[in-house]
Amino acid sequence: MAVIGIDLGTTNSLAAIWRNGGVEIIPNALDEKLTPSVVSVSSKGELIVGRAAQNRLVSHPDVTVSQFKRLMGTNEKINLAGQSFLPEELSALILRQLKQDAEAWLGEEISEAIISVPAYFNDNQRRATIAAATIAGLHTERLINEPTAAAIAYGIHETEDEAQLVIVDLGGGTLDISILEKFDDLLEVHACSGDNFLGGEDFTRAVSTGLCHKYEITFVELSAQEKSLLIRQCNQAKEALSGTSHVQFELQLQNRLVAMTISREELINWTAPLMERFNTPLQRAIRDAKLKQDQVSDVILVGGASRMTTVKNHVGRIFGRIPSCTLDPDQVVVMGVSIVAALKHKQSDLQETVLTDVCPFSLGINTVQEFQSGIQSGFYNVIIQRNTVIPVSRVKTYSTIADKQTSMTFSIYQGENRLVKNNILLGKMAISVPSAPAGEETVDIRFTYNVNGILEVTAKVISTGQEKTMILQNSVNQLSETEIQQSLEKIAEYKIHPRENARNLAVLSEAECMYSEFLDERRNEIEHLIYQFEYAIEGQDPATIKSVREQVRQRLNEIKSDLVF
Ligand code: AMP
Repeated sequence: MAVIGIDLGTTNSLAAIWRNGGVEIIPNALDEKLTPSVVSVSSKGELIVGRAAQNRLVSHPDVTVSQFKRLMGTNEKINLAGQSFLPEELSALILRQLKQDAEAWLGEEISEAIISVPAYFNDNQRRATIAAATIAGLHTERLINEPTAAAIAYGIHETEDEAQLVIVDLGGGTLDISILEKFDDLLEVHACSGDNFLGGEDFTRAVSTGLCHKYEITFVELSAQEKSLLIRQCNQAKEALSGTSHVQFELQLQNRLVAMTISREELINWTAPLMERFNTPLQRAIRDAKLKQDQVSDVILVGGASRMTTVKNHVGRIFGRIPSCTLDPDQVVVMGVSIVAALKHKQSDLQETVLTDVCPFSLGINTVQEFQSGIQSGFYNVIIQRNTVIPVSRVKTYSTIADKQTSMTFSIYQGENRLVKNNILLGKMAISVPSAPAGEETVDIRFTYNVNGILEVTAKVISTGQEKTMILQNSVNQLSETEIQQSLEKIAEYKIHPRENARNLAVLSEAECMYSEFLDERRNEIEHLIYQFEYAIEGQDPATIKSVREQVRQRLNEIKSDLVF
């Protein structure tokens, strides 16, 4: 049975498959390769996923959600049309849409996928991704780090020579930096670092702040609709400025029509503080990989936001070379993921490559230290060091600290700080030990970190041989089997917008979105187009619907292209 590769992105998601000796990106019902990671609920209570939902971010912001990948692994609930959703559930809706589109396109059932995650994703975020796949009906045996997938798409695994690569992946919400080494048939991630809260959307916000400053607009005083309109326009301007030196547009804000221009230079100035934030994770990755800048054989740019000239220039300056960006930065990750899926299933036309990854952060437990004033707790003792090649299993021995102590409690943390309070608590476990003088009883703590970045902790009392395998009690953000079942039932209750109407819905939602953007004659014209199209839909004649839809779509595109130039 076919296994698909999925890039579950903050802004957009894609699916691909290896067929007939090459990667094929799977188109969705609109024949588009990117499916926006956006979910909305219609007035009839139907769930809408993808492009149409993205359009509704402007026309129906209160019943539409996006950017939930940023919340994966947290227990933050997201309100959508009066119902609260977990980030896993919303991601599951995206995954289910990709699965259905793949099934329609391939003509067979898909029940297994390999999904990419940012290299920087922690344990909870990885577990949340697997839970989302389960809710979507996709078995996921392996997650793959996005930069590793990108390097594979560039064919690095097939090159003869040894190579040291830097992958800079700037997506909608995250920056990932990875140092990869190619040696024989081994592709090894040597180090990775990044920033979970730096992506293209932050550049959009910086543009919006700069623009408000330039035109003396107080952002907080705008209505919710005006805010999302402004953000959408800033996003378009940011993207357009990757190919042109100026953009101009008009916006209706607080009952006045403001004509605006943005130059590429302004964009560079407004986003300069964000570019500075590249330096720390880049330097850290290089340092961890014990690499000198002149040993780097290639720098690969990935992620939609890496199209920005300012990003290309900044990365180029740091490494003194022009970065590689020949493959489409939106598709490069999913291309790599589908190659890994094929490798996993040993497709004969692909050269076997062994992939190794690293654990992107240190993992350890809390311990005490003895001072002159007495014993103090709260110190971090690392068991697995950051950037250790995985899978890895490491053991350390700990002894009791008090006489007649009958149990030992371990708190498990991830992070790089000396004090546990500054790291992330993953969970706690306790194990009974025989009563004895302080320091006499010992427990072996084994941390096993697998290729999916999932951590298992085992404690073994040396004197009795008693063993306990970790169930992360305090792992607040992990869904249990029962919770996954509940999520499945909850989502099943929702009506899904019928797939065959996807094209109609995409055009209608685009028109509604533009209706809220425009005024006067243009607004009247858009209203008329919506009426014309709804009239045709009501008539139920497929040929008429198709022809009116194409006319409306064309006219909407013409109106849009008048806007930005
Ligand atoms: P991704 O998560 O990789 O899909 O990247 C999405 C981000 O890339 C969004 O913030 C987009 O606005 C941004 N993006 C896409 N195309 C461009 C472009 N031509 N110039 C600048 N940013 C872009």
